[in-house]
Amino acid sequence: MTEPTTASIAGLLADTSPYLSCDDCFDRIDEYVERRLDEPGYEDLAMQTHLAGCGACADEALALQELLDQRPGP
Ligand SMILES: [Zn+2]
Repeated sequence: MTEPTTASIAGLLADTSPYLSCDDCFDRIDEYVERRLDEPGYEDLAMQTHLAGCGACADEALALQELLDQRPGP
């Protein structure tokens, strides 16, 4: 069982965090979501900050995560 903690860090980074555009976010979102599932402790501050502030990308990340979570086993 893994629970996403995307929002937990966002508040800390509001002022000084790196900011991604939605295009940048989408370029990295597959890798980010897969890595989060493989390594529950993995953090990408730029991604997490963008996802915390961008509902469209957050929805995309969540959909991807659910898709990967439901991968049929061998
Ligand atoms: Zn976005």
